[in-house]
Amino acid sequence: MIAPFTYHAPPMRVHFGPGVVARLSDELTDLGLRRALVLCSLEQVHTGQTIAQALGERSAGVLAEARMHVPVEIAQLARDRAAELGADSCVAVGGGSAIGLGKAIALKHDLPILAVPTTYAGSEMTPVWGLTEDGRKRTGRDPRVRPVSVLYDPELTLSLPIPLSLTSGFNAVAHAVEALYAPDRSPIVSLMAEEAARAMIEALPEVAADGSNVDARSKALYASWLCGACLGATTMSLHHKLCHVLGGTLGLPHAPTHAVVLPHVLAYNQKSAPEAIRALSRAWECSDPAGRLWETAGLLGLPRSLGELGMAESDVDRVTAEVIADPYANPAPVTRDGVEALLHEAWAGRPPIT
Ligand code: NAD
Repeated sequence: MIAPFTYHAPPMRVHFGPGVVARLSDELTDLGLRRALVLCSLEQVHTGQTIAQALGERSAGVLAEARMHVPVEIAQLARDRAAELGADSCVAVGGGSAIGLGKAIALKHDLPILAVPTTYAGSEMTPVWGLTEDGRKRTGRDPRVRPVSVLYDPELTLSLPIPLSLTSGFNAVAHAVEALYAPDRSPIVSLMAEEAARAMIEALPEVAADGSNVDARSKALYASWLCGACLGATTMSLHHKLCHVLGGTLGLPHAPTHAVVLPHVLAYNQKSAPEAIRALSRAWECSDPAGRLWETAGLLGLPRSLGELGMAESDVDRVTAEVIADPYANPAPVTRDGVEALLHEAWAGRPPIT
């Protein structure tokens, strides 16, 4: 039986392929835009400047100030700079941090964003923004912050360090996994999620073997597009809630935390999400997707314990309390005992209990 659903197709253009970033100037013209402020992090200033040079008079300048979780001071600086320079749009080049900075400007000045993602985090496909003030991160949804155009150029991901590529890939897979059991899932998003999970788990060992392999990088970036589309289209569950609290409260690193937590949450939900388990079993040709994820993380040399990421075991109670105080929708009931047990296993780096 096809369960009732609602599907909203977002108005957005996606270009994909090696060298596609060269289309950026034409893309601005097609959209009727004249002066784009190029946003990136300091580490990627060279890429930002190269793009600005190629844009010529269509570039309003480069702001290399993007930081993780978008501190409000940086957001304010970027909004002021965009206004001073007369920018009518932003080109955000980089991962979730650069795209998040573009979103912070869009939220205030309504400037359209063109995104050039260079990690697999997926922010470019979502209407979700985040801002951090005094150590607290606020998030919200607003259709104005979803980029109008996204250019996925695998050549720009060749420089992404392998460890970051692999954890970022797991971060992306988490979006697909949770889309498969989301309360607002729909047939087209489930198709995307299954294909996304398949392609990413196939691509990551190839990227690990040779980070300069454009085919492997293309497959991973293609998968990350689909994973991001899943994130933008559905409501996330226990996994994203846990990572939000672990990142926000304890300051654990974003992508590695996703890599450690995901197998445990999938195991937690296994009995309550049979459709999702069937889809992932098909995608990964296995009978135990949670175990398969955990083994893959081990084979790729990824962190598998929260202890390794700097969490103290004594923080389990605090994190559990925050998670159950305001849980996200989840297929299995979110109980204190359940979350506590999950966190102890993930802290110690033991295999997920299915
Ligand atoms: P990031 O954007 O902070 O990038 C991590 C580091 O990698 C940075 O130093 C960056 O300069 C560098 N880098 C990125 N691409 C590179 C490349 N190709 N070559 C060399 N270096 C490169 O990390 P991220 O994991 O992409 O994003 C995490 C942030 O995005 C978090 O703040 C998270 O909350 C947010 N996020 C938001 C959404 C959303 O929908 N709003 C979705 C996913 C993530």
